[in-house]
Amino acid sequence: MNPYLLDRPAVVSFSGGRTSGFMLWNILQAFGGKLPDEVLVCFQNTGLEHEATYAFVERVSEEWSVPIHWLEYRVTDGEHDYAEVTPATASRKGEPFDALIQKKGYLPNPRSRICTTNLKMRTLDRHLKTQPAFLDGYTNAVGLRYDEPRRVHRLKADNAREEMACPMYKARHTEEDVLAFWRRCALFGFDLDLPYGNNTFGNCVGCFLKSKAKLELIAETQPGHIEWWAGAEALKITDGPGGKFRLDREPYARLLERVREQGRFDWPEEEADAPCMCHD
Ligand code: SF4
Repeated sequence: MNPYLLDRPAVVSFSGGRTSGFMLWNILQAFGGKLPDEVLVCFQNTGLEHEATYAFVERVSEEWSVPIHWLEYRVTDGEHDYAEVTPATASRKGEPFDALIQKKGYLPNPRSRICTTNLKMRTLDRHLKTQPAFLDGYTNAVGLRYDEPRRVHRLKADNAREEMACPMYKARHTEEDVLAFWRRCALFGFDLDLPYGNNTFGNCVGCFLKSKAKLELIAETQPGHIEWWAGAEALKITDGPGGKFRLDREPYARLLERVREQGRFDWPEEEADAPCMCHD
């Protein structure tokens, strides 16, 4: 059985990266080029993605004639909520993330990833609760590859109605397959156009789970993408550890200042990003 032929109802979690884009393409092919009504594609926007990611999400939708639902976290009357937006009205300055921080009263950190849980997973589920076909349960297809077995085995559903699916893992598709696919698409002028051609600028650009080397490169070349993070820490939303994204690193403002004054540090070897469920 083709692993891309998802059990329905199903949602395809598209993060705006090449991997989940590859997964979406294969799911489309499995369904004969057009998704049935009970298969939705959703992109949860934190407002902190790179402009190239936003352009890519729109382009995928246009090129493949597939509707993509842009969802954002909100707080309404003091309660967690969400909104469906369009590419034209989508947040670009971290507004959903700001709302979450104000609601929670502390910043996420590597041990408490309230951003993934609320901005991504629960925002998706809130939307699906408005879809009658999804009320009794649904498949959530995420772009985890065959070369990411640890992430696959750690993957957990966020609620009892959700059944996680990793069709790329089942199909044994690896990063090499993903890159080869997008190289072919690029021949027709269609690819994710992030700086350096890799995922350094992917997901939330300044994500605290990225390696120091990546964050320094971003601080040096596009410091505007680090400023929101420095501003969030400057809020001092709490005096305790929840006022910083990481206690084991310098604050983002110091990172910006240091890189501006001294340039990037020549790290002897690349530290891996911390494991994150915000897949690409
Ligand atoms: S990419 Fe990083 S900062 Fe953004 S939601 Fe995921 S874990 Fe949080």
